Amino acid sequence: MESLVQDTIAIRVQSVLAKIRSAAEKTGRSVHSIRLVAATKTVSIRQIEEGVQAGLSILGENRVQEALTKIPAFNHSSVHWHFIGNLQRRKVRSVIGLFDLIHSVDSLELVKEIDRRAGEAGRKQDVLLEVNIGNEPTKAGFRPDDMRQIVSDMGCLSHVCIKGLMAIPPPTVDPESARPYFRKLNELAKMIDAQHFPSVRMDELSMGMSNDYEVAIEEGATLVRVGSAIFGARHV
Ligand SMILES: *Cc1c(COP(=O)(O)O)cnc(C)c1O
Repeated sequence: MESLVQDTIAIRVQSVLAKIRSAAEKTGRSVHSIRLVAATKTVSIRQIEEGVQAGLSILGENRVQEALTKIPAFNHSSVHWHFIGNLQRRKVRSVIGLFDLIHSVDSLELVKEIDRRAGEAGRKQDVLLEVNIGNEPTKAGFRPDDMRQIVSDMGCLSHVCIKGLMAIPPPTVDPESARPYFRKLNELAKMIDAQHFPSVRMDELSMGMSNDYEVAIEEGATLVRVGSAIFGARHV
């Protein structure tokens, strides 16, 4: 029974990597321009280890507390952690230095707090700005129409590097329906890049999850965040 479960994770990792490759080829992109972030919320250390054995190298956590217990279990240099969940300002201090990239920065106050805490720690923190690409009333993220102003207000940060944008489109039944949102995020990134703000580079587009990462890649995703397609359905 145990080995069956382990095989399943390994097979799923290979299958997701193969689909990433073919989505890249389909649109003439280099597969090296796309990185898989395995979303590991609620997934046990043992299951994550299986995934790492099978080729995962970037792990994305949503909750600070959960991440703090998992990160020490993987102290190999081949594993990198990203933060992809809602980050509270009061938790910023405890995450500085742990994550190569924070995908989910959704307010000016949060950017400033990260800048301050990274400065205190003598570090630079790479972040993405989360965009509420579907203008959903209850969803986190900056409004697309506000992005130009927001980014120009952030221009002078000394310990934060803005590397790109992240979005979670409104839920859709079929992946094709997410395509216009992915396209819109890509266009927004290009618009921001054209402004040449200091310490703002639009190199990364974090978009696409288990149901729609292939479409996201066709629309320019450089980071896809995939959970259930690798680890199975979450029960909590
Ligand atoms: C859980 C999660 C994912 C992965 O979702 P799946 O549908 O399981 O692939 C991606 N991004 C974020 C921010 C998440 O919280």
